[in-house]
Amino acid sequence: MVKALDLDVTGDARKTVILGGGLTGISAAVHLRSPWVLLEKEARLGGHARTDEREGYRFDKTGHWLHLRDPAVKQLVADLLPGQMQAVARKARIFSHGVLTRYPFQANLHGLPPDVIKECLVGVVEARIAEARRAEAAQHGGAPAAGAGPAGAGSGDSPPTNFEEYCLRHFGAGISKHFMIPYNERIWGVPPREITADWCQRFVPLPNLDQVIAGAVGAGPPELGYNVSFLYPKQGGIETFTRALQTRMSGGDVRTATSPDAIDWKRREIVVGGERIPYRAVVATIPLPELLRRMPELPASVAEAASRLRCTTLRYLNVATRSAPAADWHWIYVPERRYPFYRVGIFTNAMASMAPPGGSSLYVELADRAPVTESSVRDVLNGLTEAGAIRGPEDVVFAEPKEIQYAYVVFDHHYYASTTEIFRFLEANDIYPRGRYGAWTYNAMEDCVIAGREVAATIDALPAGPKRS
Ligand SMILES: Cc1cc2nc3c(=O)[nH]c(=O)nc-3n(C[C@H](O)[C@H](O)[C@H](O)COP(=O)(O)OP(=O)(O)OC[C@H]3O[C@@H](n4cnc5c(N)ncnc54)[C@H](O)[C@@H]3O)c2cc1C
Repeated sequence: MVKALDLDVTGDARKTVILGGGLTGISAAVHLRSPWVLLEKEARLGGHARTDEREGYRFDKTGHWLHLRDPAVKQLVADLLPGQMQAVARKARIFSHGVLTRYPFQANLHGLPPDVIKECLVGVVEARIAEARRAEAAQHGGAPAAGAGPAGAGSGDSPPTNFEEYCLRHFGAGISKHFMIPYNERIWGVPPREITADWCQRFVPLPNLDQVIAGAVGAGPPELGYNVSFLYPKQGGIETFTRALQTRMSGGDVRTATSPDAIDWKRREIVVGGERIPYRAVVATIPLPELLRRMPELPASVAEAASRLRCTTLRYLNVATRSAPAADWHWIYVPERRYPFYRVGIFTNAMASMAPPGGSSLYVELADRAPVTESSVRDVLNGLTEAGAIRGPEDVVFAEPKEIQYAYVVFDHHYYASTTEIFRFLEANDIYPRGRYGAWTYNAMEDCVIAGREVAATIDALPAGPKRS
């Protein structure tokens, strides 16, 4: 049975169907002027930008700090939550060699053991010399002299072919060994040699030599990087923002606990629970493999590209303590393989309301992708104690294992060819893949709000009738 449909201004009876009600889907619904239907498989909207609550302790799905750059999004947040957001100056640290140093590692070597600082500085200088030689050789049309760079840094004037090469070229052997390579291997779940460096420009600060040396002797600049401060709701965790955004949705129909059975792209219909919804366009924010799996009769080249998409799962713990936070940082990066976690954050240091009075709530991102066991939790709590994140296992009220199935898209060497093929096919059929997992990318909440806004404008500008490709 086909539901009765409204006509939009173009006289088109078909609606836009939004698949997935995370921030991208919500933002699309907020900004669309033509009619829409949103299908969300969970009982409530928000996706990764939701907050769990247990025994008065609150947890986002690991750290979800709002870093805003876009003036329109800043204004939107100010309008939605006047006086309800707190600007917080970031306190991010690296825990390695038994000490805490400031973020980013490459610009703040001060405090590390002297032999580590020396190894890192020598590496940076060698990398700069190699770079100068490469530039000179390129100018004269020749190959650089032998020994012109750290092993694995690649050769000639060609750009680095993988992230490990990128690190060795830009940071040298020492910083790569002590932070860049082990940390990135832990977060991405694959060796940095398997991924490209194209994703990282915005996220990996590149200090100049002067800044590296200043940071090594303790005369570093103020905070560096893309996220020196962030906004956070005074109450309710990040979901307060997500809920506030939902209040702006109008002109549509939200169906929670609903997942499409199929996207019949040839007939331009979504099949859901025996119903067929004809669509004008689809905003697909559900994970790309989940979308493609529901599309029968894909062209062979698209099916082949789909089979190459890779993503890593993340397991993490929500940890509640009886006592106040044991440390003053918001989060730490942990590159050393002997710790079972690679990043730990303390929600209550950003906002005290994230735990009952006197207590604290933490997230602990685990390097191991295998299911969490009782003994692995014990190891984690001991490691947290050693890192100074908690006072001891006896102070822990609970440590609850959680999983994010689609956490990090792997930017491997097939990534660009595969996604280009898939996106060309989808958009030719008025299916717009957007958001972190729809567009199969690495991004932040603000990007999702913008992506929803922009795709709404694109769809509202479409002429009536199907696209002719
Ligand atoms: C570990 C981690 C830490 C992060 N930290 C930060 C941070 O500090 N700051 C920041 O700005 N960003 C952060 N992000 C990024 C941020 O979470 C995302 O950019 C954003 O929340 C993604 O929104 P989305 O709507 O694109 O996707 P999602 O939030 O994934 O929304 C997709 C929606 O689709 C639904 N869905 C899935 N399958 C189906 C189906 N078959 N049918 C119907 N619905 C379906 C899901 O339930 C979900 O609601 C982090 C992400 C991760 C993984």
